[in-house]
Amino acid sequence: MNPAPQPQHAAPRSPIHGPALPIGLAVTAIGILLSIATAPVATSAERVQAIPEPVLVQEVPAVQVGATVAADPCSEPVVQEAIASADDAATIAGFGGGESFRAAVIAGNAPCVSLDDPAHVWVVVNKSRPLDPVDFAPASLAEMPLQMTTASGRARADVAAAVGVMADAAEAAGVGRIGANNGYRSYDLQVRTHATHVESRGQDQADAASARAGHSEHQTGLALDLVACSPQCGGIEAFGATAQGAWVAEHAWEHGFIVRYEQVGTGVTGYQPEPWHLRYIGTELAAAYHDGGFHTLEEFFGLPAAPDYAH
Ligand SMILES: [Zn+2]
Repeated sequence: MNPAPQPQHAAPRSPIHGPALPIGLAVTAIGILLSIATAPVATSAERVQAIPEPVLVQEVPAVQVGATVAADPCSEPVVQEAIASADDAATIAGFGGGESFRAAVIAGNAPCVSLDDPAHVWVVVNKSRPLDPVDFAPASLAEMPLQMTTASGRARADVAAAVGVMADAAEAAGVGRIGANNGYRSYDLQVRTHATHVESRGQDQADAASARAGHSEHQTGLALDLVACSPQCGGIEAFGATAQGAWVAEHAWEHGFIVRYEQVGTGVTGYQPEPWHLRYIGTELAAAYHDGGFHTLEEFFGLPAAPDYAH
């Protein structure tokens, strides 16, 4: 087995170690801000140009927001109510929004939130974090209001609604129709799906392209694979190069989705890039993910890279 490689993120704006900005970086960024703020004659445009590393300035708010997290958000009545009613959006709002939620989870200050619970939008499923229970099935599934290219056209009801709105927004933006290839896949279907990959390309190639049963986001009902459907639906592998694929890469977060497996995240996720595979995390967390410049859910929640299965 390969040793876990370091995350291959070239982009410095991708925080790899969670919310705690290195002190030196924060001091540098604050120093830059102070020096800009005290420059007597700089115009706004000049101020922007004077910042050598704009990404540093982007990361400062994460520290400030993190510092305002409630001492014990899980004890807040509004959070307890939201948890009791399984209202993920209200729970995150009760924490003070997506970034505050993330900061509390990473700080170990959110004992009422489990990243292992597949019934919530914040679950993290990867090669070292199987679903629990391994044969988990979502409580509510609905047909996605999209043209489908397989029979696996369902997703969690809120996810199905969100992807319908997103597809309409894409069409309104002029990039054409979006359809889907796969939504929810049961444990049993994933057994068959992965076995097909192993048969056709061997274990290693199969593991780079398809999750083993019990390790697939598709089993949560929160993931789906998109295709471009103008004029006819293409395959998933073609999606990234289409107008729809480009639009989704830029706008999916506005609808609560992230592109889960990006090229820069391969060392963390163990998956080849999949521009077609979207994972729903809700609009609050997706905004925090986007604003923070993240490229993997593992780094977003301060979890270790999971490029390989344990066995
Ligand atoms: Zn997928």
